[in-house]
Amino acid sequence: MKRIYLDNAAATRLDPEVLKAMEPFYFDEYGVATSDFGNSYGVNARRALEDARAVIAKKLNISDAEQVYFTSGATESNNLAITGLVSGSRCKHIITSTIEHQSVLNVFKSLEKNRGCQVDYVPVDSEGFVDLEELEKALKKSKTALVSIAHANHEVGTIQDITAIGSLCQKHGAKFHCDATQSFCKILVDVEASGIDLLTCDASLNHGPKGIGALYVHEGVKVDPMLYGGFQEKSLRPGTENVPGIVGFGKAIELSKKIDYSKIAKLRDYLMDGLLEGVEDSHPNGPRGDKRLPNNSNVSFRYIEGEALLLHLDMRGIAVTTGSACFSQSLQPSHVILAMGMTHADGHGSMRMTLSKYNTKAELDYTIKHTREVVKKLREISPLTEIKGAKGKKKRAKKKS
Ligand code: PLP
Repeated sequence: MKRIYLDNAAATRLDPEVLKAMEPFYFDEYGVATSDFGNSYGVNARRALEDARAVIAKKLNISDAEQVYFTSGATESNNLAITGLVSGSRCKHIITSTIEHQSVLNVFKSLEKNRGCQVDYVPVDSEGFVDLEELEKALKKSKTALVSIAHANHEVGTIQDITAIGSLCQKHGAKFHCDATQSFCKILVDVEASGIDLLTCDASLNHGPKGIGALYVHEGVKVDPMLYGGFQEKSLRPGTENVPGIVGFGKAIELSKKIDYSKIAKLRDYLMDGLLEGVEDSHPNGPRGDKRLPNNSNVSFRYIEGEALLLHLDMRGIAVTTGSACFSQSLQPSHVILAMGMTHADGHGSMRMTLSKYNTKAELDYTIKHTREVVKKLREISPLTEIKGAKGKKKRAKKKS
């Protein structure tokens, strides 16, 4: 059976060139980077690690690569940025948005519950844009230590105006953490120009290996470690460095230059148009056009359950998600869709399809055709469709009387 992967916001296929770059660091140069004063293995590991750090710094347009710290991925970078910044007496007032990834939201909830931090969850509009007036109101309320807002949303692809958010934070003396996991390499992130103090990025959504990420910490920003151990990553993130993963991260970021995201954006629009035009009672979630991640599409189909759609599409070889992958096990409507003001019915019937450089137009034609068929089939047996029909009848009956 044909298999089509449209879950690239959760993980991407490793580029074979990345694997090729990593291999020597498993079989030949397997020393630890902290042995760089002791033996040639350590020297070579250190060199490779610093080269990768320089690649990531360049991509972020920062002058000093020393401000990049390797971690085990975006979840760890988010946890380290937030808990590290507000540790000790610095935990007073912190702000995030209602549509953040769980690796941000759950840290805020924990700080609120266990450490008594005062938290504001800033609302978003119907397309997922953070309400900047509400953000400023929250910033004015109290002396805010930190604002954490993602560059682009993981479910609906909304790209925030991070320069405006950064300048509001600077105006009110708050530090700004930006989770750029979804946007890194896809859209330009200029951390210094955007007034970002801390930034999360990751390899696995860019055809790099899983389990490797980075945290950018602007010079002079005080972050306490979550772990204690050796001197790796200047003790901010101790533990033997994952040199093959770091080399793969660097290689993936280097290769990302060759990806034509405007072409991927055209495919995204083709897919969304094909779904929206072919299925009645469907609507897009998130904005259309260049305020949306180039690889993200998300559509709600009313009167069906997203889980049923997902399973039927999987049986036809098409891998998609409803809500975000990390959330879909809970069978709850997506918190992002709900925060955008949509109903539970829209939340349940939402489907995210995310693309990569490996997807083709032919795959999207196959996906559009099968999604239309499956939605039609599910609606024929859905009790929710009957409710829709009953409502329609009632309306018509009222008109007559
Ligand atoms: N932040 C965002 C915006 C994400 O989309 C994800 C995962 O997809 C994460 C953080 C967590 O990444 P990981 O599970 O690789 O740590």
